[in-house]
This record gives sequence, C-alpha cells and structure tokens, in this order.
Amino acid sequence: LSAMDSFDVLVIGGGPAGYVAAIRSAQLGLKTACVDAFERGGKASLGGTCLNVGCIPSKAMLDSSEKFEMINHEAAEHGIMVQGVAVDLSKTLARKEAVVDKLTSGIAYLFKKNKVTSFFGLGKLVRQEEDGWVVDAAGTEVKAKNVIIATGSSPRSLPDVPFGGNIVENSGALALTEVPAKLGVIGAGVIGLELGSVWRRLGAQVTVLEALPAFLMAADDAVAREALKQFKAQGLDFHFGIKISEVKQDKSGVTVTYEENGVSTTAQFDKLIVSIGRVPNTQGLGAEAAGLALDERGFVKVEHGYKTNLPHVYAIGDVIGGAMLAHKAEEEGVALAEMLAGQAGHVNYDVIPWVIYTSPEIAWAGLTEKQAKDKGLSVKTGQFPFSANGRALGHGDPRGFVKVVADATTDKILGVHMIGSGVSELIAEAVAVMEFGGSSEDLGRTVHAHPTLSEAVKEAALGVTKSAIHI
Ligand code: FAD
Repeated sequence: LSAMDSFDVLVIGGGPAGYVAAIRSAQLGLKTACVDAFERGGKASLGGTCLNVGCIPSKAMLDSSEKFEMINHEAAEHGIMVQGVAVDLSKTLARKEAVVDKLTSGIAYLFKKNKVTSFFGLGKLVRQEEDGWVVDAAGTEVKAKNVIIATGSSPRSLPDVPFGGNIVENSGALALTEVPAKLGVIGAGVIGLELGSVWRRLGAQVTVLEALPAFLMAADDAVAREALKQFKAQGLDFHFGIKISEVKQDKSGVTVTYEENGVSTTAQFDKLIVSIGRVPNTQGLGAEAAGLALDERGFVKVEHGYKTNLPHVYAIGDVIGGAMLAHKAEEEGVALAEMLAGQAGHVNYDVIPWVIYTSPEIAWAGLTEKQAKDKGLSVKTGQFPFSANGRALGHGDPRGFVKVVADATTDKILGVHMIGSGVSELIAEAVAVMEFGGSSEDLGRTVHAHPTLSEAVKEAALGVTKSAIHI
C-alpha cells in the first residue's frame, strides 16, 4: 500500500448508487473518490450492474428484438412489405455493447469533469481512526472522513445449482451467441419477463416457471390480468406455483424437473435463465472484520440517514435492499451526498415508479387498488383503454389501459397503473403529480397535447369522477 491520500468521501462501488453519490458529493465541494471493481472485456467499466449487465443492455436488446418483431409481424399492416428479414445476432450484440461502452465511458468522463478520483479494483474497510476510516482502495491505502458502501447486488442462484454452461444469469442471458430453440426461465419477475421477451421475439420457444401462485403479484390486479393475457397471446408458456425438484445440465442442455399441482414434470431446455432475485454484495469489503451489521438476509442494515452501525460508514442502493431499482439507488446517492454536505437530502419512497419494459410495457407508482383498500382507505378509480386513444390506434398498438386510484374523500391520487405501448415514459407525469400531492381533478384538468398517448392518462383521471369524454 502506498502513501495516504485523504478524502471527505470515499465511495465503494461505482453503480447508480455509488457514481451518483460521488458526483453529487464532488459538486457540493467534498473531496471525493470512488473505488469500483467492475470489469468488462478486461477493462474497468463504471456504472455497475445497471449500465454493464442490467438496465441498459437489456433495453438495447429489447429494442432490437422489438424492431425485428415489428418488421416481421406489423409492417404489413402499415402497408410496408418486407421480405427476407433475418437477425444477425452478432451485430445485435455488438450494438448493445456499443451502447454500454458509450454510457460507461460517459461516467468516467463525468468523474473527470467533477474531479472525482477513480480507483479500479476492490474497496475494503481497513481500520477506523479518530476522524474517519482507512480504506484499501484497489491496493492504495487512503483516508476517508466518510465511507459510502454502494456495492450493489448479484444474481441469486438456485440452491446447489451454480451458474455456468447452459444455466445463465442476467449477463449470460444478454450475451447468448445463438438463439436457443427452447429457453427456460425460472422466475416471472421483471428480469425474467424482459429477458424471456427478448429471446421469444428472436425466435426461442420460452417456458417460464414461477414459484409464486399468481402472476405479477406486486402489480395492480387489473394490470397483472391484462399482462398475462397479452404475454400468453405472444406464445410465452407460463407455469405458476411450481416447485423445482432437480436441475441437471449436460453438453446439450438443461433438464428441469418440477412439481406443478402435485404432478411431477420434466422439461428439456437448450438454455436456462435463472432470475429468482438478487443477493447483496458484501464480500470483499472487509465487512465482517470491521463489524458491519447485516440483516438476516445479508443486506447492510441502515437507519435514518443511511447510517450503518459503524461511525462515518453509510450504505445505499441495492446493498441495503428495498426496491432494487437504479433510480431508487441514484436518489439515495443524491440524498446521502446532500446530507454529508450539511443539506437536507430526502427520498420519497412512496412515489417510486416501477417499470417492466416488455411489450406491452407495464408501469406504476403508488398504491394498487387492493393495497389502498387493505389500508382501510376508501377509493375511487378511473380507467381508460388505449383502444379509445387516437394516437395508439394510429401507432397500431391499442393494447392496454391507464388506471388511476384516488382517495374517495380527498381525491388525492394514491396510485397510477398502466399497461400499454410507451407507458414507461407516461408514468413520469403521474409521478410528478403525485410528488406534489395532486388530485385526480388536477390531472384531469391539465391540458394534454392531442393526439398523444398521454391523453389516456388525463381521461383515466377524469374517469375517477365519471367525467371522461371519449368513453
Ligand atoms: P450495482 O449497480 O450492482 O453496482 C455496484 C458496483 O459495486 C458494481 O460495479 C460492483 O462491481 C461494485 N463492487 C461490489 N463490491 C465491491 C467492492 N468491495 N469494491 C469495489 N467495488 C465493488 N433497474 C431499473 O431501475 N431499471 C431497469 O430497467 C433495470 N433493469 C435491470 C435489468 C437487469 C437484467 C438487472 C440485473 C437489473 C436491472 N435493474 C434495473 C436493477 C439495477 O441494475 C440495480 O437496481 C442497480 O444497478 C443498483 O445500483 P447499485 O449502485 O446499488 O449497485
């Protein structure tokens, strides 16, 4: 270890939580460093799971596969006749990598611009000193007044079934060099649905095995029902309430034996994607030696202000659990940096958008109708289908609807739920109105451009008081 540099803030982990905390800290005048161990193609690659093997490459692949599906199945409806459509998967993968390269090198640029010192390698708590910590930052011992742990999460494997060969997690599933004829997906959560959709569109026959008894249990019931109908219509084969008894692989593929309704079934796949959740990254951090407290599931325990049990050590992002989403991680990064700079950082956990980037897309924020009722609230709802929206019909994709859940007494919006084309963007409007404590009347009386998909949001809000115009 070499001579000691000293920082106000040292961030361990350069994903959405860590890199955002580092940039914000530096913007606020704190001397900041970030140590990150992510390696891609033998090189340091900032941005963590999200930019390297998560949010960004999955959306790049979803977009490529969606264009392929559109050209194959929808172009003719628009009078566009195409022949000889084929996918060159190596080009698709290269495009995805180019998008990732652009964004990850963008973080390196932002670090330079904001004067964040960047270390490539593992970060490890070494010892506490009177005024902070000594941290091993990729082999260099540095002093830090404050340490932020933002080490993220990794894919959970099935018990006794390690990843490898034909059994892949997210990064493997985003880099298959051939379209598998038969693809198994274990876990019908966001990641399973998105990755399953990519390969189905590119030609795989996809079977999804889910342990829970029903589909998308976190979503509003109406949205979950519509989504299941749409995905089944696309040919995805779902099995719920299953129990895996054995997973075996050989050179030719993977055999999964599972129990469904008391009946044992064996299925053969060329590849198996396991997407059954994520586990916090706390190894390699020196956490145990330093006495860092973890909860029973291994997440770093934090109290108000993202404080861990160790003085001057904070934790944010996936490693503290809660919504394992990049934007939640980023907001925590901003809030914590502001608190460390003496400001009042804050994250509103009640209004976090959730998005599933399938086709149709699914998006929501706030309470489902059932959650609101379970809380003892009396609610009114309004729902508007995209089939009555001019722009959706023009696009040729009138699937889905927008649903607004409002408090029956105060009219305050409690939740907004959407399924349809482009709803990943439409949800932002609902989030903004909810952030300001807005009512369904506020949303319904706001002028929306015509013809746009966003008019369905306005009409759903008007529907709360039975005053929608176009239905
Ligand atoms: P991470 O992004 O995991 O970053 C942690 C970083 O810390 C990594 O670079 C890691 O290598 C590094 N690290 C770990 N230990 C050490 C150590 N000791 N020393 C140095 N470095 C260390 N979320 C969304 O909001 N939208 C999406 O569309 C979305 N899509 C996803 C798709 C997939 C396939 C996956 C897997 C995830 C997706 N997510 C999405 C989730 C999102 O990626 C995570 O919530 C987000 O990356 C969490 O950010 P983080 O900074 O907490 O952790």
